[in-house]
Amino acid sequence: MTTQIPDESAADQAFRAEARTFLEAHARPRPPGSSSSPLGKEMTAEAEAAHVQECRDWQATLAANGWAGISWPAEYGGRGGTVGQARIFAQEEARFDVSSGAFMVAIAMVGPTIIAHGVEEQKAYYLPRMLDGEHVWCQLFSEPGAGSDLAGLTTRAERDGDEFVVNGQKVWTSGAHFSDWGMLLARTDWDVPKHRGITYFLVDMRSPGIEVRPLRQITGYAHFNEVFLTDVRIPAANVLGEVNGGWGVAQTTLGNERAAIGGGGSGIGFKALLHLAEALGRTGDPTVRQDLARSYTRFELLNWLGQRARARAKQGKQPGSEASVMKMLASQRVAADSDLALALEGPAGMLQSGDAPEEGMFQQMFLNQWSVRIGGGTEQIQRNVLGERVLGLPSEPRPDKSLPFRDLPRN
Ligand SMILES: Cc1cc2nc3c(=O)[nH]c(=O)nc-3n(C[C@H](O)[C@H](O)[C@H](O)COP(=O)(O)OP(=O)(O)OC[C@H]3O[C@@H](n4cnc5c(N)ncnc54)[C@H](O)[C@@H]3O)c2cc1C
Repeated sequence: MTTQIPDESAADQAFRAEARTFLEAHARPRPPGSSSSPLGKEMTAEAEAAHVQECRDWQATLAANGWAGISWPAEYGGRGGTVGQARIFAQEEARFDVSSGAFMVAIAMVGPTIIAHGVEEQKAYYLPRMLDGEHVWCQLFSEPGAGSDLAGLTTRAERDGDEFVVNGQKVWTSGAHFSDWGMLLARTDWDVPKHRGITYFLVDMRSPGIEVRPLRQITGYAHFNEVFLTDVRIPAANVLGEVNGGWGVAQTTLGNERAAIGGGGSGIGFKALLHLAEALGRTGDPTVRQDLARSYTRFELLNWLGQRARARAKQGKQPGSEASVMKMLASQRVAADSDLALALEGPAGMLQSGDAPEEGMFQQMFLNQWSVRIGGGTEQIQRNVLGERVLGLPSEPRPDKSLPFRDLPRN
């Protein structure tokens, strides 16, 4: 099957054909109705380890053949292409049974942050190792007392010669148990307002003093973790950006995270839902047709918002408020689509795994919806961002913005 894009330029068509030739030679077509996302699958520790290895192998294949990091600079292992080419490749890749999901944090979040804020040595070391499948990354931002209010974090980093010594606790750290590196926010100055005393570190997850404890979720799968840091020594050369300038650096990561979650949605596309309705013989039902039309509309709106975000990236801009719109719409989509899927299944919606239709893919999507709706900033926080930055509504009162962090009341 070929993808027809009527207004695509000759150069883009040639690029699409080249991508397709590569993919056909190196990957199997994706079975109809299946998803590349682990969100639609039941996970065991063994299945997860196999998935991570498959992701590493696929990244290595991409890198070896010049298809990794399509829009990243060639000197750091990328292809040096355009954002439009990256989109074309992603469209073609989605039709094949491959995934780079374990590299989402690396390639969609920390990579662009290092490109924007890193010094030459950092770019030269870290970027190629993400693209070739060597380094899986995780995000050590949230803490038990700092989620939505991320700038309230209390993990501390104290300078000791050429190193910082870090103590504290992180939580909800996705994939920490299989990650090689982490991006870490820690407080380096307690005597300035909270946003101004934070530093962004790149930390080797095998450093002594890091203890990773898995947390089990509603799906039965331990996707994220508590991470305890006790006297962890991080070289000063691993500071990304300026000491105490980490909040600004983190905004680059968070904007890219929202765009990635909004762009990826639930990872289960409209076609899978349509496939389910067809398989259950429900596409003639007028109310189901309306629900499917609404689902399709949300899916297409997200695609168009994604185009807008890519146009912005093409101009060299970091993701802005449109990333919050995408994140919110993706949240609404995963909630509505999983409700619809389980309603279509009827009583079978109460089954799971192999007993349920599509191997329980939609039950997993339903249970996993909160990872899209909470992870990367909750729906309420996205609404705050939109209210203040897009609609120009008055901002919430924030006395904590001007007081030294040390003097703020904390739990
Ligand atoms: C699947 C998943 C994966 C995650 N992975 C990672 C990861 O890899 N790394 C990482 O660092 N973090 C990760 N997180 C954490 C995530 O970023 C936080 O859960 C999120 O920011 C919310 O913080 P919280 O859980 O502390 O909730 P809280 O901040 O305690 O919020 C509780 C409730 O209060 C609401 N609320 C809070 N403040 C406001 C406000 N000002 N206005 C209106 N409503 C408000 C929230 O919307 C929410 O409903 C992950 C979370 C999930 C669910």
